[in-house]
Amino acid sequence: MKWLEEELKELKKKNLYRELRTLSSPQGKEITVNGKRVLNFSSNDYLSLASNFNCECLKQWGSGSGASRLVCGNFEIHELLEEKLAEIKKTESALLFSTGYMANVGVISTLAREGDLILSDELNHASIIDGCRLSKATVKVYSHCNVEELEFLLSKERGKYRNCFIVTDSVFSMDGDIAPLSELFRLKEEYDAVLIIDDAHATGVVGWSSLELFDLTPDERTVIVGTLGKALGTFGAFVAGPRVLREYLVNRCRSFIFTTALPPHIACQTLENLKLVPERMRVLQEKIEFFRKLTGINSNSAIFPFLTGSEIKALELAKGLWEKGFFVPAIRPPTVKESRLRITINYEHSKEDLEKLWKILKELL
Ligand SMILES: *Cc1c(COP(=O)(O)O)cnc(C)c1O
Repeated sequence: MKWLEEELKELKKKNLYRELRTLSSPQGKEITVNGKRVLNFSSNDYLSLASNFNCECLKQWGSGSGASRLVCGNFEIHELLEEKLAEIKKTESALLFSTGYMANVGVISTLAREGDLILSDELNHASIIDGCRLSKATVKVYSHCNVEELEFLLSKERGKYRNCFIVTDSVFSMDGDIAPLSELFRLKEEYDAVLIIDDAHATGVVGWSSLELFDLTPDERTVIVGTLGKALGTFGAFVAGPRVLREYLVNRCRSFIFTTALPPHIACQTLENLKLVPERMRVLQEKIEFFRKLTGINSNSAIFPFLTGSEIKALELAKGLWEKGFFVPAIRPPTVKESRLRITINYEHSKEDLEKLWKILKELL
């Protein structure tokens, strides 16, 4: 496999080489990474629920699910959680998936077929992109949050296709900005399309659902994908939408059917964590507001991008912060076009933590 070595050397030369870091503590505001205790500004565990646990969940349900949902891995606790998730998203139903990656790949490739049209924001998550690729539908990518361009594409192209899907992150994972959901909601009506919203970084951060921000309620043309591994602190994901969608996915969605069900104790722990969300979310939102005012970085979520101009600069700043005891990751291509530090705020961060981070970052500059 000599060619792999060559390609890795090339990545190193371009400052695009990646390495795994190793945690030897639970997730949280402070973590031990590669043997060093650091203040954590890198996780998606926005509400510090990843380190929460209730042993009763494990005691009651054991460690595994033993089969796929359709064989003998469908537990009543899965269904209880699904009802709760449908309630928070204000949809008729929800269906659990083992990961958000599988939920996006599954729902998009199951719904969209040859002869259909998918319109996708250029900054959508990789799992959305892969779902589009797998679907055999025609995919057109519109510039980030550009409603005019999207409407132009719809008016020009919609008539040539059978079904049409508009798909977008609600909170964009590397930029922290929010999709223009009011306009997208209107366009899906006007052009007879289905809107698929990925709420991975919105659930439990901006509200129970991103649609709340716009006073919108999901209807029969709305699909919401959510994850359990971010603010909700556990693992797994779900698709929320009309009852007929759930029924169809159970029958046809390959990434739902051909995989082992989420372990039931995780569903149980997620229900436990959900009880803590409202209070912690309120605190998190205060911290977000404080950090936005402090830094002037324009974000409406817990994700604050700090653009660095080059790969090397991002790496240098991340290294400088690391040496001072702050873990802020450098994010580089191909994950993003423009290299950056990606600062994520956690409900446990104190105002002093946030001020210290910003002060040291400015000194390093
Ligand atoms: C993290 C993420 C996913 C994938 O979810 P996992 O459960 O981690 O597989 C999907 N979409 C977006 C926008 C994400 O940030």
